[in-house]
Amino acid sequence: MHDIIIIGGGPAGLTAALYAGRAGKRTLVIEKSAFGGQMTYSPKIENYPGVPASAGMEIADAMVEQVLSQGIDTEFDTVTGLEKNPDGTFTVKGELADYNGRSVIVAVGCKHRRLGLEGEDELIGGGISFCAICDGAFYKDQNVIMVGGGNSALQEAILLSETSKKVTIVQNLPYFTGEAKLIEQVNKRSNIEVIFGAVADSLIVEGGEFKGLNIKTDSGEIKSLHADGMFVAIGLQPENEPFAALAPLNSYGYFDTDEACTTPTEGLFVAGDCRSKRIRQVTTATADGAVAALAACRYLD
Ligand SMILES: Cc1cc2nc3c(=O)[nH]c(=O)nc-3n(C[C@H](O)[C@H](O)[C@H](O)COP(=O)(O)OP(=O)(O)OC[C@H]3O[C@@H](n4cnc5c(N)ncnc54)[C@H](O)[C@@H]3O)c2cc1C
Repeated sequence: MHDIIIIGGGPAGLTAALYAGRAGKRTLVIEKSAFGGQMTYSPKIENYPGVPASAGMEIADAMVEQVLSQGIDTEFDTVTGLEKNPDGTFTVKGELADYNGRSVIVAVGCKHRRLGLEGEDELIGGGISFCAICDGAFYKDQNVIMVGGGNSALQEAILLSETSKKVTIVQNLPYFTGEAKLIEQVNKRSNIEVIFGAVADSLIVEGGEFKGLNIKTDSGEIKSLHADGMFVAIGLQPENEPFAALAPLNSYGYFDTDEACTTPTEGLFVAGDCRSKRIRQVTTATADGAVAALAACRYLD
């Protein structure tokens, strides 16, 4: 039996683990994919205080090392359910095993939103990607499309422009929603073309292979963009359903709680991008992790 079980090993979960470990709590972090969470997709993080311009993966590695030095237990498993037992403890249900804890912090973050086009799912990992840092090298000296206009899309377009022949950004709005500094960098790259006011309409697929994207402009005109690969950065969606019975969700699927990180279920806390909030960043996720862990410690004590 662990004192605190943390579901999700992103910056929120890792920070919670650090605080829980330092408070002497027997703690387990369960991660389904990669410790570091969304940070591992970020080519460069320049706004995490004290860490000037580092790859997200480097920050993730440092966080994991710091957590492991506290003697925290870790497991790779996908959590599919959570139950509160009559004695007040929790059973965390994983695909590989069940885990018992006196308290639980859910820090499961978000996943990439998809375009919802026919044939999209079949091409993910083979023409369509959500991660320039992971897959950008496959498109060296080739033409790629980047769908999106926020910080993630701009960061990824800049990274891709360093190795790809041409990057075409397709943004539905008539302007970018990302930071001015990133927009400035995009505007300086001669191999980045920007198409504003157009939405993805359908995929161009030949013989089962990705060949490009048809876009619909504001005027209703369909234009074909031929490319070797496409990256999609159009936001995130939470994956909170397995926990909804114990922690209510808002209409967008996020945990309906504020920065106190508490839920109506005693002993259950939520932290990071998975909860309702205005700003989803590494700093806000780590802040939540600390708040949730200290709240869990208070509950246990
Ligand atoms: C491309 C990109 C660039 C970014 N750049 C920046 C930046 O420059 N600066 C900045 O501050 N922020 C940046 N962000 C945002 C930042 O990474 C996130 O706000 C932050 O990682 C959120 O942390 P989190 O721990 O709440 O969630 P996540 O990082 O999403 O971590 C959640 C973890 O939970 C795991 N998980 C989910 N469901 C389960 C389950 N059922 N069972 C077990 N494990 C599960 C996931 O695999 C994941 O590892 C960027 C994000 C992206 C995608």
